[in-house]
Amino acid sequence: MSKNIYVFIEQRDGKIQKVGYELIGESTRLAKDLGQKVVGVLLGHNIADKAEMIIKHGADEVVVVDNPILEEYSTEPYTKALSKVIKDLEPEIVLFGATSIGRDLAPRIAGRVHTGLTADCTSLSIDEESKLLLMTRPAFGGNIMATIVCKKHRPQMATIRPGVMSTLDIDMDKEGEIKLFNVEFTDTDKNVEILEVVKENKKATDITAAKVLVSGGRGIGGPEGFNILREVASELGGEVSSSRACVDAGWIESTRQVGQTGKTVRPNLYLACGISGAIQHVAGMEESDCIISINKNDTSAIFNTSDLGIVGDLKVILPKLLNAIKEYKNKDKETVDSLV
Ligand SMILES: Cc1cc2nc3c(=O)[nH]c(=O)nc-3n(C[C@H](O)[C@H](O)[C@H](O)COP(=O)(O)OP(=O)(O)OC[C@H]3O[C@@H](n4cnc5c(N)ncnc54)[C@H](O)[C@@H]3O)c2cc1C
Repeated sequence: MSKNIYVFIEQRDGKIQKVGYELIGESTRLAKDLGQKVVGVLLGHNIADKAEMIIKHGADEVVVVDNPILEEYSTEPYTKALSKVIKDLEPEIVLFGATSIGRDLAPRIAGRVHTGLTADCTSLSIDEESKLLLMTRPAFGGNIMATIVCKKHRPQMATIRPGVMSTLDIDMDKEGEIKLFNVEFTDTDKNVEILEVVKENKKATDITAAKVLVSGGRGIGGPEGFNILREVASELGGEVSSSRACVDAGWIESTRQVGQTGKTVRPNLYLACGISGAIQHVAGMEESDCIISINKNDTSAIFNTSDLGIVGDLKVILPKLLNAIKEYKNKDKETVDSLV
């Protein structure tokens, strides 16, 4: 009899990736509706000491598979280990982050354990009557949201993009069980030998961590259009992001793309400049706390998602906004200076 929600906890160089904690957070909500437990599954070598932190993030239990062969991610050994955990412990639901590792691993696991997989979900819930997992994701190029259920096979499995779900506050008093799970490996379990890991040497900006995002779309007119966005972002202590149109045009690097095929962000403030509000873009930013949009077309779809919409030419509005922010900050400083 299948039970409990299992979350594949991704680690790289022994460091737990945030998406694992996000999925634990989401699973605790789902587990309440099911009356079941949340179990983290941690694969690696000498990583058992990391299990405690997974419990503090909300898991009831952690299953640890510790073996030198699992030190670095490799498809075959990870597939073998996780398939065995699933076959022996029979979870009801298994969740993965839709990262490069999760996207490689989850379909293989689905094949091994003969179940389905819904990839790139943007929301999950439990159906009140059937208690089935409702897995929602954009479909047909993002034009509709499809809710998929896995009625006949277990576990129900989904990948969820990083940044979509929220982590719980860490509870240092939370206790849970850590179970070591043994998997026997042979020489034939690893057909790929990793000779060297070469990390890309670039300072990648993580737009998902920014509290303020000043985002540019095709309406900024060209790569130089980002200059004033960078100034505004810098004054507000934020980062610049963009729509896919700008990335496709080569105006900005792809790591800054927001949306279905880019990053999912939820900053305190998302300032959308010259972005039309296509569903594929909105899917990546609609959870932002406050959305302000500047667009010269008053019927633009971005206004449907905005808390505040400014109709006008961004080339006129952005310099005024930048000046206003600077003036406000100076005034604020003068007030502080006069008080000290
Ligand atoms: C499978 C699939 C996945 C996709 N994934 C993504 C994704 O992850 N992220 C994403 O962003 N898109 C994605 N897209 C593309 C998406 O459908 C849109 O084409 C894209 O978001 C449009 O970008 P945009 O809003 O910058 O450009 P446009 O749609 O061309 O909009 C430009 C806007 O700027 C306004 N404007 C022009 N000049 C000015 C001015 N001077 N002042 C003020 N406003 C001005 C215009 O009124 C217009 O609303 C995807 C598409 C598909 C099919």
